[in-house]
Amino acid sequence: MRLVLIGPPGAGKGTQAKVLSAKHNIPHVSTGDILRAKINDESSEIGKKAREYVENGKLVPDEVVVQMVEERIAEPDAAKGFILDGFPRNERQAVVLDEVLSDLNIGLDIVLYFKTSTKTIINRLSGRRSCPNCGAVYHVTNIPPKVEGKCDLCGADLIQRKDDKEDTIRKRIEVYEAETKPLLNYYSQKGLLREVSGDLNVDELSQVLEQLFLSLNVK
Ligand code: AMP
Repeated sequence: MRLVLIGPPGAGKGTQAKVLSAKHNIPHVSTGDILRAKINDESSEIGKKAREYVENGKLVPDEVVVQMVEERIAEPDAAKGFILDGFPRNERQAVVLDEVLSDLNIGLDIVLYFKTSTKTIINRLSGRRSCPNCGAVYHVTNIPPKVEGKCDLCGADLIQRKDDKEDTIRKRIEVYEAETKPLLNYYSQKGLLREVSGDLNVDELSQVLEQLFLSLNVK
């Protein structure tokens, strides 16, 4: 199964990608997660270049993310499939992804569009808390950690991502509308696009996705 998840920030792509990755035993490739790890690594040149873009809600230059994805999907664990979350983010990246996959003689099975209301986006992002150590994601009311402010998995102090502050959220939504949304048409024309509701809660959406995969016979 080779999947792309498209949707605005806060649509729940990362959360569902983690569920799908565990269920189907294929890697979750999140360009946002890879970039954040590089930014946290003080010796990373990519991290140094990417920091300002990520913290201001702008897209990191295409050549940087394309190379990261190319390298990641060439790793052995991605041979049986992968879930791309947050990539491609504009048409140029989508075209390059098609070229990379075609060189490998493979293609995408489905592109899932998480259609999500602005109200949900703002609520999810403003309440999101993340673990800087293991990457686990919580929400102050929807998915609270067992002990306030602490990661259930590793006990680290939870943080609010710098780009989950109000001004940057607004910028990220603008960038999504201008750069990423046109991809819906791109993938719809290829017959790959399926729409689901990002407004559903985690369990509801997870069930919808399983039903969808069953009906499409995607394993
Ligand atoms: P995300 O975790 O997907 O919300 O991504 C966080 C930030 O990482 C974005 O706001 C961008 O600054 C950067 N980023 C993630 N994926 C991409 C991509 N495919 N192209 C460019 N920038 C990206």
